[in-house]
Amino acid sequence: MQRTTARQIVLAVMLIAGWGAQRSATAFDEAAACQCTCARRGAWTVAETPNFTLWTHGDLEIARRCAIRCEALRRELISAWTENEAIGEWSPLCAVVIHSTQAEYRLSVNASDESAGCTTVTCDQGRVIFRRIDLRGDVADWQRNALPHELTHVVLADQLIDCSVPTWLNEGMAMLSESEALQTQRLTLLERAAAARRLPELAEVLDDGQRSRLDANLRYAASLSLVRWLEQQGGRQRLLQYARHVRQSGNDESLRGAFAIEGGLPELEQQWHASFAAHRLRASPALAER
Ligand SMILES: [Zn+2]
Repeated sequence: MQRTTARQIVLAVMLIAGWGAQRSATAFDEAAACQCTCARRGAWTVAETPNFTLWTHGDLEIARRCAIRCEALRRELISAWTENEAIGEWSPLCAVVIHSTQAEYRLSVNASDESAGCTTVTCDQGRVIFRRIDLRGDVADWQRNALPHELTHVVLADQLIDCSVPTWLNEGMAMLSESEALQTQRLTLLERAAAARRLPELAEVLDDGQRSRLDANLRYAASLSLVRWLEQQGGRQRLLQYARHVRQSGNDESLRGAFAIEGGLPELEQQWHASFAAHRLRASPALAER
């Protein structure tokens, strides 16, 4: 058997403009009985459940509630993204580290100032051998946005082992787990760009290159918009089929195979742009008639 080299994937979620840092409530609403052991380790409180080791500076109850929330989210995401929900427990466990400040977060994560969460997954020989999520606990609503976003990356990593998924697609799928309010905020940014005839070229959005001049928030918004549009065409299993094949087979063939988009990328771009015109028509018919 050919040995595959360990491959590490690091993905950080960007804050959207206006989604600023502020002190957030750390308690979760839901608290259900679950296998959870909590202990103090130096400056940290650590809660361990069947799939997570959660680190926080909060007290034992906060740690327990956060870990229970992670377990519940994992179940929801597996249900949303897999046809076979009988997925075993994670080994190794997924570490979730909740940092109290941006400074502490940046000591652990090599990410931009705008980053609110970061996922690190390492794959080797067809299995995930390392899972870790770092989160900024000082960012408002991190429980409803950054945590489900990052956890989606970890859940999808099990299904996309050995598949090098383009960043726009990986981020777009993760953003589907964010709150509807944040998704709307992101899409509004794109609507404004479309109204000003500044909608990015599809090639720019799909380009993984670090030298792109495309604004990061606009790139995230466009990625979310594209993935939502593709999801509407064929559902999440088709999205995963596309993600598994796009690097090897290319966009045109993968779009045909997964979504029956026979015209490949040019047709995707044309239909994506047309969806903005249709949205404007629905949102403001009087304006569109001018
Ligand atoms: Zn992400």
